This record gives sequence, C-alpha cells and structure tokens, in this order.
Amino acid sequence: MKPKTRFQHKVAAANGRLQPIKDKAAAWAFRHTLKHFAFRVPSGLTTCLDCGCQWRESGESVCRCPHCAAELEIQDTLCRKAVARAYFSVLEQQDGFQVQRVFLLTVEYRKRREAVTDTHEILRYWLDENGRSAVTARRRTLGFYQDSFLLWSDIELRNDNNVYRHIACCDVYPNYTAMPKLRRNGLKGDFCGIAPQKLMQALLTDSRAETMMKAGRKQHLKYFIANPQRLDECWAAYRIVLRNDYHIDDIGIWADYIHMLVVCGKDIRNAHYVCPSDLQAAHDCYQEKIRIVRERERLEENRRRALANERKFKEMKGRFFGLQFTDGTIVVSVLDSVLAHYQEGDAMHHCVGNENYFLNPKSLILSARINGKRIETIELSLTSFKILQSRGLQNRPTEYHDRIIALVNRNVKQVRKRMAA
Ligand SMILES: [Zn+2]
Repeated sequence: MKPKTRFQHKVAAANGRLQPIKDKAAAWAFRHTLKHFAFRVPSGLTTCLDCGCQWRESGESVCRCPHCAAELEIQDTLCRKAVARAYFSVLEQQDGFQVQRVFLLTVEYRKRREAVTDTHEILRYWLDENGRSAVTARRRTLGFYQDSFLLWSDIELRNDNNVYRHIACCDVYPNYTAMPKLRRNGLKGDFCGIAPQKLMQALLTDSRAETMMKAGRKQHLKYFIANPQRLDECWAAYRIVLRNDYHIDDIGIWADYIHMLVVCGKDIRNAHYVCPSDLQAAHDCYQEKIRIVRERERLEENRRRALANERKFKEMKGRFFGLQFTDGTIVVSVLDSVLAHYQEGDAMHHCVGNENYFLNPKSLILSARINGKRIETIELSLTSFKILQSRGLQNRPTEYHDRIIALVNRNVKQVRKRMAA
C-alpha cells in the first residue's frame, strides 16, 4: 500500500529508519516466551535441549540443567528434535511515534546440540501522540495457517486485520521505552496480558484508561478495553468504586451487576448499590429480580396478543363453546378463549398457545382435567373428527391417555352436531 496522507508518509519514513533490535531482547524472548525441554530416555539419561548437556535425572515434571541452569520441562520420549515458536514485542520510539514491533521467534531443538534460534520481524504498530495508528507489516500468505507470512516481503504500510491484531497480543520485552505522553498517562511495568497497542491507544485517547492505570487497576482496564460498551455504561459507577477504594475481584460480574442495576432503574452513583459488601449475592439477587420482570413482560405480551386474536377466535370456534363431556372422573371441555390456550400451553409446557393451533379452522382444542387439574390437551380434527394428538405435561402421554381417547371418541358426535348447526 502506497502512503497517501501526510500521516502515512511520516509513518513510512520512520518505518525506514528503525534499527534492528538488540540481541538482549531476542535472548530475553528465548528465555521467557518459549517452553524449554529436557528429553529423557527410559534409562534415565536426560538431555537439555537448550545446551545439549546430558545427565541422569529422576525428577517428576520439571528440572534444572546442571550446565546452563535453564528450567526445563521433562518429557519422557525417544524423540531427538523439536520446534517451538512464539511472538514477542519490543516497544520503541521513532521520530515522535510510539511503535510496537512484533517478532516471530522460531527455535529448533536438536539433541546434543545447542538450540538454534531465528528471529523475524513481522509487524509494526505505529501510534502518534493523538492515538492515530498505522500498520507496517510483512505480507501474509494464503494457506491453512492464518499466521504465515512471506518473510522476504518488505515491511511496508498495509491494512490492519485480525491476524495482525491477534499476534500483536503477546509478551513485551520489559526493557521498553515509551513516549513522554504515555509515561505521563501512567504507562509503566507489565502489560498484564493487554494487547500493547490497544492499551497505548486507550491511554492516549481516553482519560478513563489513564485513571484506571494510575489507580493500579490493570485487570479492570483489560476487561474494559475488551468490552468498551461496558465502560460507557459503568463509568459513573466505577468512579464511585475508586472514590470508596472498593475492591473488585471479578470485574465481569461487577459490570454485569451494574448493567442490571441500570435495567432496574437504580441509582448507579450511589455507593450503597455500587459497592455491595457481597457482590456475588447482590448480583444473584438482581438476576432473579430481572428474571421475574422478564417473565411478567412475557406473560403480558402473551395476554396482549391473546386479546388481539380473541374476536377472530370467537367467530371461528364460538359454536363449540360450552361443550363438555365426562366419564365421572375425567372432564373434557373445549378451550373457549385464546387466553385459555396460553394458560394451557404454559402449564403443560407444550405449544398449544401458538396461533397455529387456536386459529386453525380445521381443528379444535380440548382440555382433559381431573378435579380441575390439567391431565392432557387434545387436538381434534374438524374435518375427519379424529383425534390428531393428545398430550400431557411436556408432550408426554399419561396413564389416563387411553381413557381420554375413548371418552372423546364416544362423544365426538356432539362436536359433529355443533359443526353442522
Ligand atoms: Zn542446558
């Protein structure tokens, strides 16, 4: 991509002036971003894959090399070689820009030889003082692996994409330099797993990030950078948290809780709500409240729809209203309102409350009950006068099923009579 804007031209110029990174950074990456192995054969002879030294080891899962002092993961195997790769970042300043340089470190381990490392720079994220960003990177190749790059291609301006963003979220060489504005806004120490470029951009553009960083709440900032819409919703409440020096273990639960307070119309500037002594209990309590409200809304919506369909239903099925037959124990009667269908469907956990049933001109819905308790719901065809289905709780048949079928069949002539009337 050719630079077009002034900003892009400046980035392209600075991109050409960057120097190779120091060996120290690559050595740090080799030590801290990769796993290191000791391969052990059945005899107990163990080989350090970092330096090639051999000794007898009886440890369980980890050990230390007596020669190079590396901490190693023991693998019982006859394998002779292994390959490992990892991304790491180095942060630098160049021509007034803050730049995150992402490197791919590949290591080839071979028994009895020193590990061979190879470092390739893949990507650079550029930021100016106002948080404006650009990407210079190597070209991606199309293939099975998303993160494969043409290592001979130039590092030049390219469009940002998910793969670049993904690999840029990696360990940072701790000996980094940051532009004065970033340091003033609180950038220091560990990145705590936050993608460096995202954290730096937030610090340059959002004073809320600066406030959290300076309060030492990096884990909270990590959550809010990943969930920016939550930050907008919770910020007023979060300021109360900071003012009260309230400790939050699980920021996800807290943000969820604040969202529920908002839904319930509570004052999220009030420390009484925002800083509960038992967060989990308060969260669960509001979750239950909201569940009840939602349930009430659902029933209300059902009722509203029922009323809208009531007239149509009466016109269609009114002639059957009042029909009832019994064998002394079981009473079968026609459902005579849309609401009755909803209630039947809710109580029996099946879908008779759906308009496909009560507004179907070709069938009639009846409810079989004993002492008022619902047993089964019957759908009777108004063309063949046969029972289409009869179902109990959660669509299962009941012990009364055969008796109900017989009772309806005996009385089907009454339905037929009303149909003809
Ligand atoms: Zn060693």
